[in-house]
Amino acid sequence: MPREADSIFVRRAERLAWLVFDVDGVLTDGSLLYTRWGEQVKRFHVRDGLAFRLAQRAGLQVALLSGRRSRPLEQRATELGVDDVMLGAGDKNPVFDAFLERNNTSPGRVAYIGDDLPDLPVLGRSALSFAPADAAPEVRAVVHVVLDACGGEGAGREMIERILKARGDWDRLLASYSLED
Ligand SMILES: [Mg+2]
Repeated sequence: MPREADSIFVRRAERLAWLVFDVDGVLTDGSLLYTRWGEQVKRFHVRDGLAFRLAQRAGLQVALLSGRRSRPLEQRATELGVDDVMLGAGDKNPVFDAFLERNNTSPGRVAYIGDDLPDLPVLGRSALSFAPADAAPEVRAVVHVVLDACGGEGAGREMIERILKARGDWDRLLASYSLED
């Protein structure tokens, strides 16, 4: 199993083309909030959003793969300029297959992060697999990297940062934020 310090992790990170994110419990803390009118409300972390942009600037594409569908999620996906959006995916594995075919890619070029049992099949197939610190124990037991951050508290940011560092992209991207510019 490729641990982060291993050259296997670095080699796999260098081959990635796609970063795919489960949403509830990964980009959110898993809370499902409803207004009195029955509309859903979700809370996203702004630092995850910036990291999406950094990943794209490093030449990676980002996708969302959620079992649920909601207006706030659609809005956030649009804001972030997500390259492929899969919502309402009750069974994630066939939806992931369709994603691979649509984008002419393979699991060997995908890093995936998920927090719960429906994510297990896709986690098991991806070149690199991640889980937030507060993911289900069954998920934490099988992924390559359990992050320090919890879902909705920067887990997406941490995953992207670790991948970009392994690829050697992080310092170059940071330089673009130099105060001297
Ligand atoms: Mg989830």
